[in-house]
Amino acid sequence: MKNKILVAIVLLILGAKVILAQSPARVSAQLTVIRAGTLLDGTSNAERKNQLIFVRGNRVEKVAEGSAQIPAGATIVDLSAATVLPGLIDSHTHIFLWGEDPAKGGYDANILNAGIALRAARATFACRRALEQGFTTIRDLETEGAGYGDIEIKQAIEEGTIPGPRIFGATRAISTTGGYNLEGYAPELDMPKGAQLVDGPVEARKAARQQLEHGADWIKVYMTHRSWVDKQGNLVSQPTLTLEELKAIVDEARGWGKKVACHAYNGVGMQRALDGGCDSIEHGLEITDAQIAQMAKQGTSYCPTISPYYGDWAPADTPGGKRDRARTAVHEVSFKKALNAHLRIVFGTDIGGMPWTDSMAQEFKRMVGLGMTPMDAIQSATSRAAEMLDMKGEIGVVAPGAFADIVAVSGDPLKDVTTLEHVRFVMHDGTIFKNDLAK
Ligand SMILES: [Zn+2]
Repeated sequence: MKNKILVAIVLLILGAKVILAQSPARVSAQLTVIRAGTLLDGTSNAERKNQLIFVRGNRVEKVAEGSAQIPAGATIVDLSAATVLPGLIDSHTHIFLWGEDPAKGGYDANILNAGIALRAARATFACRRALEQGFTTIRDLETEGAGYGDIEIKQAIEEGTIPGPRIFGATRAISTTGGYNLEGYAPELDMPKGAQLVDGPVEARKAARQQLEHGADWIKVYMTHRSWVDKQGNLVSQPTLTLEELKAIVDEARGWGKKVACHAYNGVGMQRALDGGCDSIEHGLEITDAQIAQMAKQGTSYCPTISPYYGDWAPADTPGGKRDRARTAVHEVSFKKALNAHLRIVFGTDIGGMPWTDSMAQEFKRMVGLGMTPMDAIQSATSRAAEMLDMKGEIGVVAPGAFADIVAVSGDPLKDVTTLEHVRFVMHDGTIFKNDLAK
């Protein structure tokens, strides 16, 4: 009995200690209240006027009407003349690509001429660029020969060494022999490759295991590689991984609770991507009606990355020029089909393929230009991307419990979606990174 009382007292003291250790932090975290002229919360289809967003620490505590009481001592951020949204999510980036000019060596120069320190410095620049444009989360789909650098850049951001968005990194990506650059060099040379190349299900699973071991949040696979226009004028793409190889990768990723993003243009490679259980189709230039139905059934996300296919077309009468035009022609049809089928379309730019000095938000006007409403386009870069990333309610939304990733623009993006190309306020993880509206 004595012992039992003693144990009870010890437990009480321990319990009190735990409470003491936790509660001061919770109470003392600074309260910031953002006064939002208009709030687009990322999930609701209705805009709300004159709202107060209470941010404590790095989370949203509550959202209230503008007339609500603001506690003394709170820091007030006046965005009453602005439209406030959740931090944006770009679901397809490459922080380790530099949008190399083909005239200056293009993709190959990035791997052959730039050392890892230069590439890391450029990736650091890319992360700052993303954040200052209001992209508080990115899914970075492959380091293009920079190994596991994305996971280390992510670590540098998380420890506060450099500014940058939340990163979901895919590390090295996986393709097959003959399925990725560098290519076209003397066969005697053992050239470095921008992705990890595998042949056979055993090697495929091993590559997935290596990447997951070293911190991959997603696995990225190439299901198609080269593309061209055939004699009938149809876009054709070369399939890479077999169904068995892809299934080994997907099965391995599932075991780690991770997902698989598949680069796929069309044809056989696209079909294998769907039959193998890919979670997201990247680019998806040409998707048949049956494949759209299969994506709807399987809950596959669609990340179309429209913008990069509109720049730098080769002359119309060349094979490359025909291919460039065929790509956009079928892509537009696929996008509209996906829209009509209410697939989960997620915003992605493939930036890095384009220079990081370009606007990431340019993708919004491409999506809206192909028939998406501005609200739908905004949700593709907020709550819908969050769903794909298994972060529903935590990012891509301004609501109680969510991370305080909040941006603002002057003007109304529902009337003119290009206003999102000029984000004026960025709060990331509860800290204000940029505020051009405080004048
Ligand atoms: Zn890409």
